[in-house]
Amino acid sequence: MNKAQETVLEIDLKALKHNFKFLKSKLSGSTKFLAVVKAFAYGSDAIEVAKYLQELEVDYFAVAYTYEGVALRDAGITTPILVLHPQPVSFDDIITRCLEPSLYSQRVLDLFIASAETHKQHNYPVHLKFNTGLNRLGFGLEEISKITETVSKTKAVHITSLFSHLAESEVLDDKAFTVSQIEHFKTIYKQVYAKLDYRPFLHLCNTSGIINYPEAHFDMVRSGIGLNGFGNDPNVNKHLKPIAALKTNISQIHHIKKGESLGYNRAFIAQTDTKTATLPIGHADGIKRQYGNKNGFVTINNQKAYILGNVCMDMIMVEITSIDCNEGDEVIVFDDKYTAEALAENVQSISYELITAISQRVKRVFRR
Ligand SMILES: *Cc1c(COP(=O)(O)O)cnc(C)c1O
Repeated sequence: MNKAQETVLEIDLKALKHNFKFLKSKLSGSTKFLAVVKAFAYGSDAIEVAKYLQELEVDYFAVAYTYEGVALRDAGITTPILVLHPQPVSFDDIITRCLEPSLYSQRVLDLFIASAETHKQHNYPVHLKFNTGLNRLGFGLEEISKITETVSKTKAVHITSLFSHLAESEVLDDKAFTVSQIEHFKTIYKQVYAKLDYRPFLHLCNTSGIINYPEAHFDMVRSGIGLNGFGNDPNVNKHLKPIAALKTNISQIHHIKKGESLGYNRAFIAQTDTKTATLPIGHADGIKRQYGNKNGFVTINNQKAYILGNVCMDMIMVEITSIDCNEGDEVIVFDDKYTAEALAENVQSISYELITAISQRVKRVFRR
């Protein structure tokens, strides 16, 4: 790859393939793989990533919201797409674009059935989400009779799958809560099966669930962060490759004298003569203000350069007093060596938050 001459997010599709194969190697042959490509495929590029995973014959995609799914359909994605958190206002678009909704309450179930009936649908695929302890979205166990009664009164929808979501599948020193979620899920699906004359397929695990709970893979698993190269555990990370590298370059070098200030609100005051580099990336690109004031760093010629003062909208200034570098030189914000996870830790954040925040202004380039 050429050296970055502007701010770019490089997406390595070979690394994506590697992660996909690694995660698939953890599954039995009959377990389906759903790739979670919500939030621009975790800040990379949902369309390119989905196209590539479709070539690799992934079984399913998931997005959070309807318009993320519409964008994939517009780009020619034909693989089934589960919409994890559709809003009733978008149900018409769900149906006209052949997206499959997650239905998580009696209210959305009723509204979706009404919409499917209006569109004269027959056996439209829907997925029922159950709450097993995350207390975020999902039906409760006690709602099963009402759900099956509701569904038995219409021919418009067909329950394709039953699923739930784990709250702490990455926490290994106390597995009891996750085990209780798995048991709760089993109780739920058995009760649903007892009331239906067909068997929706089952799924529960996210990336860390795939790794840590092989007994809970059921019929399909859902992975997002793992495909992006993070496993929420150093032992897993070593088998995965971060797919995204955020690079930029040095716009200008300044020599600041002892006592001079730098940036907005004069948040940095030089204690000694200081050499700084101004970089064309700021909070509008996804580098949050928390990374300022030496909490975050970039690397230049393999050396750490801390962010000085406040992060600006379009720029940051970094300390390069002891780094041999020139204007125009490449700067790594994160890559497979200086990872997004390591950078995020400096501000008590996680890889998920940093990578999904890289704004659409940053140019994406792809490595095949
Ligand atoms: C985001 C999400 C996932 C993906 O989780 P990862 O930890 O990124 O693998 C899976 N399932 C649901 C319901 C989600 O919202």
